[in-house]
Amino acid sequence: MPTHDVILVGGGGAGLRAGIAVAEEHPELSVAVVSKIYPMRSHTVSAEGGAAAVVQPNDTLEDHAYDTISGGDWLADQDAVWAFVNEAPKEMIQLEHYGCPWSREPSGRVATRPFGGMKIERTWFAADKTGFHMLHALFQHSLRYADVVRYDEFFVTDLIVHDGRCWGVIAIEIPTGELHVITGKSVILCTGGAGRIFPFTTNAAVKTGDGMALAYRAGVPLKDMEFVQYHPTGLPGTGILITEASRGEGGIMVNKHGRRYLQDYDLGNAIPVDDERHPQKRTMELGPRDRLSQAFVHELEKGNTTDSEYGPIVHLDVRHLGEAKIDKKIPFVRELCRNYVGIDPVHELIPVRPVVHYLMGGVDTDIDAKTELEGLFAAGECACVSINGANRLGSNSLTELLVFGARAGRNAAKLAKKTKTIPHDELKEQIDATKGRVTSLRQSNGTERIADIRVALQKTMEESAGIYRDEASLQTTVGVIAELKERFEKVKVADKTKIFNTELTAALELGYLLDSAEALAHSALARKESRGSHQRTDHPQRDDDKYLKHSLAYKVEGGAPRIEYKDVVITDWPAGARTYGVQSGLKRDKPAEATAAATPAPSASSDKTES
Ligand SMILES: Cc1cc2nc3c(=O)[nH]c(=O)nc-3n(C[C@H](O)[C@H](O)[C@H](O)COP(=O)(O)OP(=O)(O)OC[C@H]3O[C@@H](n4cnc5c(N)ncnc54)[C@H](O)[C@@H]3O)c2cc1C
Repeated sequence: MPTHDVILVGGGGAGLRAGIAVAEEHPELSVAVVSKIYPMRSHTVSAEGGAAAVVQPNDTLEDHAYDTISGGDWLADQDAVWAFVNEAPKEMIQLEHYGCPWSREPSGRVATRPFGGMKIERTWFAADKTGFHMLHALFQHSLRYADVVRYDEFFVTDLIVHDGRCWGVIAIEIPTGELHVITGKSVILCTGGAGRIFPFTTNAAVKTGDGMALAYRAGVPLKDMEFVQYHPTGLPGTGILITEASRGEGGIMVNKHGRRYLQDYDLGNAIPVDDERHPQKRTMELGPRDRLSQAFVHELEKGNTTDSEYGPIVHLDVRHLGEAKIDKKIPFVRELCRNYVGIDPVHELIPVRPVVHYLMGGVDTDIDAKTELEGLFAAGECACVSINGANRLGSNSLTELLVFGARAGRNAAKLAKKTKTIPHDELKEQIDATKGRVTSLRQSNGTERIADIRVALQKTMEESAGIYRDEASLQTTVGVIAELKERFEKVKVADKTKIFNTELTAALELGYLLDSAEALAHSALARKESRGSHQRTDHPQRDDDKYLKHSLAYKVEGGAPRIEYKDVVITDWPAGARTYGVQSGLKRDKPAEATAAATPAPSASSDKTES
């Protein structure tokens, strides 16, 4: 039975950053990175557009904080946002020192591009393969530490909880099918998102809400689960993302009449901002993602979309950027369009439609990444700290992995250092129960097929808990989810073997999807207002009196979850209108880190040309 001080569940951006933080600051501690896939295959690798942090001289931490808070429709905790914007520049420079090749201006300064909802260009990038380069830098840096022990292709099935505290995990070693108990003094969930609850998503097949469900089952609430981000530009059919960078670089959205239809909608920033610090006028295509996705639905209702074999679409036009700029700034977009749609965006329009991209909600944590359960922490997309509120701004998430991954690592290490190892025989009862559950699932001869339940779940979520929702649609969905959970009790795993039994892991993932979806649908049903990405047609207004609060979904055995609320932390800006053009109005001094960050010294590893 291996034992470590800190266990990380997940080897993506958040997990690796947390592991490095422990190893750098507490080299005497041993760290386990448990990942169901090889770490470099984690979803972070597919991030394209970039990561936000204040670096340009015309930018301020205050602007980054304000954009994030107003973009999140005032549901973000402002203390968490301040921690985020303060620590972000330092983390980004640190990542360059680990080897991340940020694209640079000819002058040597870090290059930034505009992103939706940000009034200043503050999105750092490495061409349009930012996540790949970030994860690569983190992964390679983590290899320096002998005490970071990897458990690749270990699938976590359970948290070990004893006496009100988390003591480790139980995992299936996928290549052998053996169950392992890995104990530790702190556990950090870094398992990423749950986009696979929906049928049409940019999310990798492995994003099945595992960490969210593990925490939920252990009695930790899931926070703000009703907020689901649709990205306005996914490729029809596959759901592959066409990065917001394509609009940041000047791409425009057109309907079937060739009209730049976003001019007909209130996007908060549709009117170009007159800000002397901003060299270019902002375009309407850089409105926040929730508003752009909602505009698509209205175009559909007006008959302005084009029918395709994969349903209604609009088009993204980047032709006017020219081949040289497309190849330099968004080469991956060209590659994806050629390979997956058979068109060349240099000469043709890109067919797109909104696609589920990101869950703002997740495991409820405080600003130190701690959950309600002693010994359990969470960071990255599976956590809700919350900086994203009701709508995440594109490019904040990659930076969130660094800032809160590092915080989680440091705090988990602190707790581990003052905790004694638990005698293993005290955990025996729970370990035996889990082993029994997994073994009987593998041996089960039920009548229900995994795929049937998953497809039914995705269908009801898309139909009833998508871009627009209402009481009746959500009532239907919660009923369907309850039925599917009953059917799941009789699920059949036809493959009885142990080696690489991916049918068994698919069954376990389906269980995670069902639990995450249950929390999501019930939280959406309970929130009777429209805010950010949560749009209720029966309650179209934002209602700050009742709902300027985080929802918390607690699992109830055999019944619907209990929904509670807790206050949003407001330190500087009371809830206001979502207008991106306005200034924050604060007269705060820039915190010290900002000044340092404004002039990052190019490191030896950086290259003066754009990658
Ligand atoms: C296509 C795409 C493009 C994006 N582009 C951007 C962008 O440009 N900018 C931006 O800011 N954000 C972007 N995002 C969002 C951002 O990339 C993600 O939110 C972020 O990378 C998630 O990182 P993570 O470390 O939390 O999780 P992940 O990178 O998803 O890693 C999860 C880890 O958990 C492990 N795991 C999960 N379940 C288990 C289990 N049961 N047992 C063991 N291990 C488990 C996995 O093996 C994996 O290692 C994009 C997202 C997508 C899908």
